[in-house]
Amino acid sequence: MTDGRFAAGKFATSQCLLGAHLSIAGGLEKALYRAAALECSALQIFTKNASTWKERSLKEAEIDLFHTARAETGIRAVAAHTSYLINIATPDRKQRARSCAALEKEVMRATALQISDVVLHPGSHMGFGESLGLEKAAESLNAVLSKQPRPTARILLETTAGQGNSLGYRFEQIAALIDRVEDKSKIGVCLDTAHLYAAGYDIRTVATFSEVLRRFDTAVGFNYLKLLHLNDSKKDLGMRVDRHEHIGEGFIGLEAFRFVMQDSRLAAIPKIIETPKDAQRQDWDRKNLDRLRALLAD
Ligand SMILES: [Zn+2]
Repeated sequence: MTDGRFAAGKFATSQCLLGAHLSIAGGLEKALYRAAALECSALQIFTKNASTWKERSLKEAEIDLFHTARAETGIRAVAAHTSYLINIATPDRKQRARSCAALEKEVMRATALQISDVVLHPGSHMGFGESLGLEKAAESLNAVLSKQPRPTARILLETTAGQGNSLGYRFEQIAALIDRVEDKSKIGVCLDTAHLYAAGYDIRTVATFSEVLRRFDTAVGFNYLKLLHLNDSKKDLGMRVDRHEHIGEGFIGLEAFRFVMQDSRLAAIPKIIETPKDAQRQDWDRKNLDRLRALLAD
């Protein structure tokens, strides 16, 4: 990749795949209508309650409603985020089996809904060390992907803030995982701006953000980048704490988001906000999306 080939350039709003992580309260298809009301072209959802192990199989009727809503709303890019409880990197055999079973279900639900991408945190090594954690995570990914019928949704490894024993806060760790995945067509990466920054990747200026992307390309490969999470950070550079803030109101600041919205390399990558919500007092999703849209034009 040469710098000249990917010089930053502006692109039309209509081409932009921008959206938010939205609630499925009342039915999965409701999230699509919520996205349309916010004038989104992209969406991320949980396909079940993300904070319990309780599983969920989709009924034909809900799948049909989702497809109808997708056609009606014209939302182009949809991603599913996996449950927070899943830890495919744990050396604890029982916990890992439980996590793999849950991940299998996540991928199956996404596939049934024709959702192309399933976002997954690479997991925590639980104090057993990074290399063992990465080894277990790769084993888990291969086990889960080998069981899925084709075609299947792709798993996107999300870069993390590196909180506690969590893996995926260095590009090299993501690369090590992808390296060990047998079917590379079924794996990709989701970069989260808040996580990058908290993990120590300085993305505050055009120059530093470009350098971070160059490092990502060298370690992982730009072709694996399939999704962006756009969040500002409540925590400063390298603090390795994961706390999302409204766009332009955290330590990262607006410049980074102008770069993301205008850089031609990122133009075709869906962009999802996961910023704090406070529906009672203010429609923050709309406010954050409008801030990002404004950056397209300026
Ligand atoms: Zn994220």
